Amino acid sequence: ATETEVELMGKLEMLPIYQPREKFSNKGTYGHALVVGGSYGKIGAVVLSARAALASGVGLVTTFTPKCGYIPLQSSFPEAMVITDTDDEKITAISYDIAPTAIALGMGMGTHKETHLALKEFLKNNTTALVIDADALNILAAHKADLKLLPPQTVLTPHPKELERLIGTWTDDFDKLKKAEAFTKKHGCILVIKGAHTITVFGNKFYVNATGNPGLATGGTGDVLTGIITGLICQGYEPFIATVFGVYLHGKSADIAVEDYGYQSLTASHVIDYLGRAYLNLF
Ligand code: AMP
Ligand code: MG
Repeated sequence: ATETEVELMGKLEMLPIYQPREKFSNKGTYGHALVVGGSYGKIGAVVLSARAALASGVGLVTTFTPKCGYIPLQSSFPEAMVITDTDDEKITAISYDIAPTAIALGMGMGTHKETHLALKEFLKNNTTALVIDADALNILAAHKADLKLLPPQTVLTPHPKELERLIGTWTDDFDKLKKAEAFTKKHGCILVIKGAHTITVFGNKFYVNATGNPGLATGGTGDVLTGIITGLICQGYEPFIATVFGVYLHGKSADIAVEDYGYQSLTASHVIDYLGRAYLNLF
């Protein structure tokens, strides 16, 4: 069908999507998330994303960062396994000896030339599902030919500035959505247009999220969203469904957390801590 499909996504739409935890399951049932990112002074972005993936329900989490990420990750996040680059401050070659189910890529990564080359080499050989955010989006926007290397149904999660770098400037919201649609069709990807009413775009599909609040306008909340979507893909949700559900849970978690912390004081860490409440609120 070529018809445009616009849906408002609230709790009723999430219930049939939700996959309950099985009694006879183990950590292997729920996948292994790999979170790749970070640079000197921006390891926190990876901590947030990896923690969010775990809170979304993934079985195992591994991080890949520059060497300077080793101590902060191992000491603040005992549930994660940690692999590092040979470089102390930036990613120069993405290599690991695990078989992740899905990979989050880009938060806090920086746009160093060597990091771009590492990303390109990685994309040439990768077939695993990807969720791409932040500086990895900025690198791709600056080297649009590399977008051809993305596996089908890769999820891109730009904030407005990153979106503009990817699809160009727009005249109004209608124009923005047209450009987003064309971009997802050209590259076979899923585009999350983040904002007060986040819209997930996939071809003719435009799914508008009903949760979230201005408490989310604070550093690190985007990294949390990327981790949640990656964790859901690891658990077996199809990338588009994982994205729509992840955006909903992220906003719902913030909506519940804001009742305890208020709009001004809500932090990205609270969004992770309240994710369980967002799940429980479905019922
Ligand atoms: P980032 O800019 O990458 O950290 O992402 C920010 C996250 O917070 C995205 O998921 C946005 O949709 C969300 N967000 C930011 N501002 C608001 C707002 N005013 N209302 C609702 N959600 C917001
Ligand atoms: Mg961001």
